[in-house]
Amino acid sequence: MESTDSKHEIVIVGGGICGLATALALHRKGLKSIVLERSKILRSEGGGIGVLPNGWRALDQLGIGSHLRTVALPLQRGRDIFLGEDKEQKIEYVSGDVRCMARNDLIRSLADALPAGTIRFGCEVSSVDYDSVTKFTRLLLSNGSYIEAEILIGCDGGRSIVAELLGLKPAKEFGVVATRGLTTYPNAHSLPIEFHRHFKGDVRVGILPISHDLVHWFVTFPTRQLTGEKFPRDENAIKQMVIENIEKLQDLPAKVKEVIHLSEPESLSFSHLKYRPPGELLLGRLRKGTVTVAGDAMHVMGPFLGQGGCSSLEDAVVLARCLGSAAAVKNNVDGIEKEERSARIEEALEKYVKERRMRVAQLSMHTYLIGASMAATSKLAKMAFGGAMALFFRNGAAQNEYDCGQL
Ligand SMILES: Cc1cc2nc3c(=O)[nH]c(=O)nc-3n(C[C@H](O)[C@H](O)[C@H](O)COP(=O)(O)OP(=O)(O)OC[C@H]3O[C@@H](n4cnc5c(N)ncnc54)[C@H](O)[C@@H]3O)c2cc1C
Repeated sequence: MESTDSKHEIVIVGGGICGLATALALHRKGLKSIVLERSKILRSEGGGIGVLPNGWRALDQLGIGSHLRTVALPLQRGRDIFLGEDKEQKIEYVSGDVRCMARNDLIRSLADALPAGTIRFGCEVSSVDYDSVTKFTRLLLSNGSYIEAEILIGCDGGRSIVAELLGLKPAKEFGVVATRGLTTYPNAHSLPIEFHRHFKGDVRVGILPISHDLVHWFVTFPTRQLTGEKFPRDENAIKQMVIENIEKLQDLPAKVKEVIHLSEPESLSFSHLKYRPPGELLLGRLRKGTVTVAGDAMHVMGPFLGQGGCSSLEDAVVLARCLGSAAAVKNNVDGIEKEERSARIEEALEKYVKERRMRVAQLSMHTYLIGASMAATSKLAKMAFGGAMALFFRNGAAQNEYDCGQL
């Protein structure tokens, strides 16, 4: 068997929002970790990210909330505008401290608060292997080296290799695509500081000002309306596809169209929206020995409530709190037998899974109903999904009230 090149107490796979937030939360609890990120630089694809009050609570626990509030204006309200129907309604979940920020600001603030050397760029994990006797996980990197982890946390997104190790199935596609981007106005824009979404059929166009000179926008529509490539990567192809879709919306205000026309090509991204079924979150295995998952690796969900990233920040706080309070982890091996230490780690991770399972299953169910209704072609199916939502998720702002507690 090949030798192990290095051994670490806590290894996090993935340096996205969740991986970096988890490393930071652990650092604040005095626990050292390393983050293996396959990309060579910090990744901040997607333009902006909406952060709701529950997300801000988590950011405050991480100690970066105050700084981030200086780069993202509070949104005064949220409105859904139904084009051609002369109808609009309040977006219920836009209540309290809701702001949109550039993903780059969030990712950079998380990374800057970490001790030097925590993030290992260009480290792609090719396979993971858990030894139930030693309770260590062996990770094979794409450069052929091996790393051993006493605790492994998979924050490797919607196609997680760590989730696969736990036996979770690959995430499913909603049948809805999203394009996103950022637009800079050197002389300031004149848009209201609010979140507004324009609806026409199954197409949604959303506008979220970040500051007086920066705006985040998104356009979502069912995959069946996709005319070009299934995975356009070229920024010009993405821009052309979005523009074709919005130009069909005759009643879309010129100001909104302008935001998209002026967007910066390098900020554009395209994705097929994915989800982990709520049933799998309720009943699936979210921990195996000293291995667990967080963020999209655990609960990738539709972005319709702006909760995927916010709940990933909550995961980070809860996970670090649970591990931090397991004395064995903090005190290292001194005076504690290896088996006793592993048992305490497993207990801490189980506590984390227990605390998160219902929370993320609920968010996943709510977003699933919205996505399924968007993708459905029959009126009856749309009504059924809408009825289930009205029955189970009457209070649209309830998820904002969640408090992940102190670190
Ligand atoms: C269109 C859209 C809009 C959204 N809007 C919002 C919003 O407004 N508010 C909100 O809260 N959430 C939103 N979300 C959700 C949010 O973006 C995600 O929940 C969040 O980014 C998840 O972060 P993560 O770190 O778990 O995963 P990711 O961001 O996917 O990061 C995973 C990281 O792991 C790395 N990686 C993967 N595999 C490996 C490997 N084998 N080895 C090493 N590294 C690896 C990747 O390179 C990546 O950097 C939106 C999502 C979409 C698609």
